[in-house]
Amino acid sequence: MVVLKAASPPVPSVNKINNGYPCSNGTIKPLITPSPSSFINLDQGDPEVFRSYWRKKSEECTVVINGEDLMSYLSDTSNVCWFMLPELREAIQRLHRVVGNASVGMDKHIVVGTGSTQLFQAALFALSPLDSPNPINVVAASPYYSEYQEEVEILRSGLYRWGGDAREYDKNEAYIEVVTAPNNPCGSIRRAVANCEGEGKVIHDFAYYWPQYTPITQQYDHDLMLFTFSKCTGHAGSRIGWAIVKDIEVARKMTRFIQMSSIGVSKESQIRVAKIIGVICDSYQKIGSSLDSDELFFEYSNRKMRERWEKLRAIVEKSNLFSLAKYPKAYCTFTNNTSESYPAFAWMKCKGGIEDCESFLRNLKVFVRGGKRFGVDQKYARVSLLSRDEMFNEFLTRISNITSDRKYKLN
Ligand code: PMP
Repeated sequence: MVVLKAASPPVPSVNKINNGYPCSNGTIKPLITPSPSSFINLDQGDPEVFRSYWRKKSEECTVVINGEDLMSYLSDTSNVCWFMLPELREAIQRLHRVVGNASVGMDKHIVVGTGSTQLFQAALFALSPLDSPNPINVVAASPYYSEYQEEVEILRSGLYRWGGDAREYDKNEAYIEVVTAPNNPCGSIRRAVANCEGEGKVIHDFAYYWPQYTPITQQYDHDLMLFTFSKCTGHAGSRIGWAIVKDIEVARKMTRFIQMSSIGVSKESQIRVAKIIGVICDSYQKIGSSLDSDELFFEYSNRKMRERWEKLRAIVEKSNLFSLAKYPKAYCTFTNNTSESYPAFAWMKCKGGIEDCESFLRNLKVFVRGGKRFGVDQKYARVSLLSRDEMFNEFLTRISNITSDRKYKLN
């Protein structure tokens, strides 16, 4: 909760918000409980799943911002990313050290962005040669995150263009490959795969490389790694992402891009994210004290994702209408346990005679994203597992009901 002291309307107290969302005018927007006839939207990956954890931590995460605070465009002019607040940089470094998922040593530059969406575009700008007669090709192995193609194509840039599936890329030209690990939509851990003569640069999108979704198996140290707070904690509305970059020139160009598109990144958001990261890291440092495991964010969120996956798998197995990938177990250096992955999305494949998974689920009034958007066929669809409990449970009810409906029985 950000408390704007100057002329702010009353902020609803923690106790009052249990059955709704606090609005900026001091009112509460009630949560809608889905009925069997309502539409449920599991198309977007809007991260609502961890809300009850953060509700409990409301007071601890409160940030007070006075009327005269944070007025300047500038934050730290000694840093490449001059609009990033030092407290956010230190919080990000601390978080990566606690989790052990990425290297943030002195040789790395951190660039903050308005979500990793802005940083992806900044990275394309920074990695594209400025003197080439042709745009550089941007490729990703299918199924790839549905937004990459649109983000590459929207401006019809002269610097870069969409080059399609990385596995099929065979041009003798320079390219940029985007590697998403764990992958959105299918949850698999990936490496660069493009195999051609041209010189390749890689953007590693680690939006989901956090312990609630997948075992942390190594501390990555790639040239350009993107992270987002949206999927780390679920605070997508703060719109904070960061890039960890080895080459200072690339970091400079990314900073320049952000300067040109938004002259920096909201400091209110930066302050809030730094505070929340501090709350997470502090709780891990108090581990010897009386905190139970549900007080620790990654333990809580990992349990939440595991429970959802167990329920979903049980119903899908019974249904015989869909299949889901199996994820190999791996040792997690963060939890010190061996476990499966519990991805943010279920990548469902329809079996037998059902050709279009998205339409099939739409008949049940469930919106999901069909395979075509990810560069594969419509037998697949991506279902968000990040919704509120009510939506997730209603989804389970609907797919378990169809199994007993003779209309859908398959040969
Ligand atoms: N990369 C991937 C793989 C994602 O799934 C998302 C969010 N859906 C993003 C990037 C963008 O995240 P942000 O909210 O930080 O813009």
